[in-house]
Amino acid sequence: MTAQLLSGDLHDDALTAQVHPRDWRNPIPKDRYHLVVIGAGTGGLVTAAAAAGLGAKVALVERHLMGGDCLNVGCVPSKAVISAARAWHGAREAAARFGGPVVSGPGDFAAAMERMRRLRAGLSPIDGAARFRALGVDVFLGEGRFTGRDTVAVGDHVLRFRRAVIATGARAGVPPIPGLAEAGFLTNETVFTLTTLPRRLAVIGGGPIGCELAQAFRRFGAEVTLVDAAPRLLPRDDEDAAALLADQLVSEGIHLVTSARVLGVARVGDWRELSLEHPGGPLRLAVDQVLVAAGRRPNLEGLGLDQAGIAATPTGITVDDRLRTTNPAVYAVGDVCSRFQFTHSADFQARLVVQNALFFGRARASRLVTPWCSYTSPEVAQVGLTAAEATAQGVAHDVVQVGVEHLDRAVLEDETRGFAKVVLARGSDRILGATIVGADAGDLIGEVTLAMTSGLGLGAIGRTMHPYPTRGEILRKAADAWRRGKLTPTVRRLFSTWFRIFR
Ligand SMILES: Cc1cc2nc3c(=O)[nH]c(=O)nc-3n(C[C@H](O)[C@H](O)[C@H](O)COP(=O)(O)OP(=O)(O)OC[C@H]3O[C@@H](n4cnc5c(N)ncnc54)[C@H](O)[C@@H]3O)c2cc1C
Repeated sequence: MTAQLLSGDLHDDALTAQVHPRDWRNPIPKDRYHLVVIGAGTGGLVTAAAAAGLGAKVALVERHLMGGDCLNVGCVPSKAVISAARAWHGAREAAARFGGPVVSGPGDFAAAMERMRRLRAGLSPIDGAARFRALGVDVFLGEGRFTGRDTVAVGDHVLRFRRAVIATGARAGVPPIPGLAEAGFLTNETVFTLTTLPRRLAVIGGGPIGCELAQAFRRFGAEVTLVDAAPRLLPRDDEDAAALLADQLVSEGIHLVTSARVLGVARVGDWRELSLEHPGGPLRLAVDQVLVAAGRRPNLEGLGLDQAGIAATPTGITVDDRLRTTNPAVYAVGDVCSRFQFTHSADFQARLVVQNALFFGRARASRLVTPWCSYTSPEVAQVGLTAAEATAQGVAHDVVQVGVEHLDRAVLEDETRGFAKVVLARGSDRILGATIVGADAGDLIGEVTLAMTSGLGLGAIGRTMHPYPTRGEILRKAADAWRRGKLTPTVRRLFSTWFRIFR
């Protein structure tokens, strides 16, 4: 399956004109490129633009849509859909929470999806073929495959290289559920082509993508069941954060079924029936559509990795800490090789690879401090270790936690669900990790990431004045809580002696 667009749609035609122009003519290849990049998602685009900007001869190969998952079927459309769903939810809640006008009835789902397609097309020129050609990159539209240790073929063209970068990304993994393929299902590659709201939707997978889309479709008015084999949502995030999100989803009317295995799917007329194995007994679920969001698989097939001496496993291309593959002339970035499958992480890996591949740099991927965020309401953001990971790794640590309900801004905006939890090296203010749950958590985690990247402790955040009333104050409050906890009984005694004298 590949990313799908709506044929004949004004906005999707405008998008296609940027990211896969129908009349595109591939250039005549140069004798040899400094860099050949396979895949024009975030990882490939940033690699190509940075290298060309430094004067390198660069070829960029894309078989489908430039911009990759993020622009076409990932971050961009999902966040546009989430923002529309949040606005609908806010409008419905306005009467009860803010004395606003009473809003009822269905909204216009097709209009919300059209808005998404319009915004996506509007953002597309920055990733488009014409822009990259103007940057001096030779853009080849077609499937790239290695034909030797220093050659890549695209159609009839052979591109010779000094260095190559594999940035072919990942796609939705589809679990081997009997009947699923025959019954038909959606993934992130097809869900954004919907123009009619499914009345009943089953979402398989409680990771970030499953949770974000389950909540959005519920807020649009669908009956949503979210199914996961694990006992909890967001398996890579803090357990308390995941529990709070689960409560929120249930409070919005999502039917949450965890610890459940989908045994089979059958097509019954226009709809689908799922059979589930669940500790509470077998379940049957009738829905109109099934959305599979159960993990990602690296795009490795057809790349000719053997021809180039490049090793891979089912989880992706094998790379060292400098992102070099087993062929020293070839590097990899992004979802195809990384456990951090995020746009910003593909971006930073690409910058690192340009240094390492073209300038004998020694930059290490393990030095990157990578935050992430699930854009649910409330948002769930993480950087570094969770407290559970610190415990599992035997890292001595302290935890400082502050509830969002202590923030005046959160109280005034009636958004008091959430917390900031900072994991510190035992007895110091060195930050090992942090979890933030609440509105704009994804923005707030940037401050902790800055501190961790720059070797600043929680004390430095506490000494930094934050405007009142903002959500960012939560981190300063966490620092205050840490400082208060530092007052040992001896210091407290000294202070009380001082205040007896100082009258
Ligand atoms: C629904 C969804 C929501 C997401 N939301 C967010 C978010 O909010 N924030 C965030 O940071 N991340 C998000 N992500 C993840 C993000 O989209 C990816 O991490 C990012 O796109 C990875 O970039 P990449 O360059 O590694 O791969 P991709 O973007 O997948 O690009 C790879 C490109 O390589 C091309 N390709 C593959 N094989 C070949 C070949 N043989 N020859 C030529 N071309 C080839 C593909 O067609 C594709 O265009 C989301 C993902 C999904 C699915």
